[in-house]
Amino acid sequence: MNDDGEERRGRGGRGGGGGGGFRRPRGCEFCRAKTDIVDYKDVNLVRRYITERGKMEPRRKASTCARHQRAVSQAVKRARHLALLPYTSEHVRISGIHMGRR
Ligand SMILES: [Zn+2]
Repeated sequence: MNDDGEERRGRGGRGGGGGGGFRRPRGCEFCRAKTDIVDYKDVNLVRRYITERGKMEPRRKASTCARHQRAVSQAVKRARHLALLPYTSEHVRISGIHMGRR
């Protein structure tokens, strides 16, 4: 189980620094927006965090922090409940051509 990608960098030639307390929250939109609430009614927003098939996008790809990932998945569930979002591709398939198949 080697999850590559995140190679940690040792201390490189990072000189100077200091000043400016601007920390980059790793691309988590909600942290950046300083909100804890993910509006499930905002389909366009929520949609960005699910795949085409309606599954949750893996956190790494969505670059959402763990905390907000949970909020997002809650929002997704709610949105699904209100039929704002599809459940999974399987559901889509059922309404498709092959009715006989599961
Ligand atoms: Zn966050």
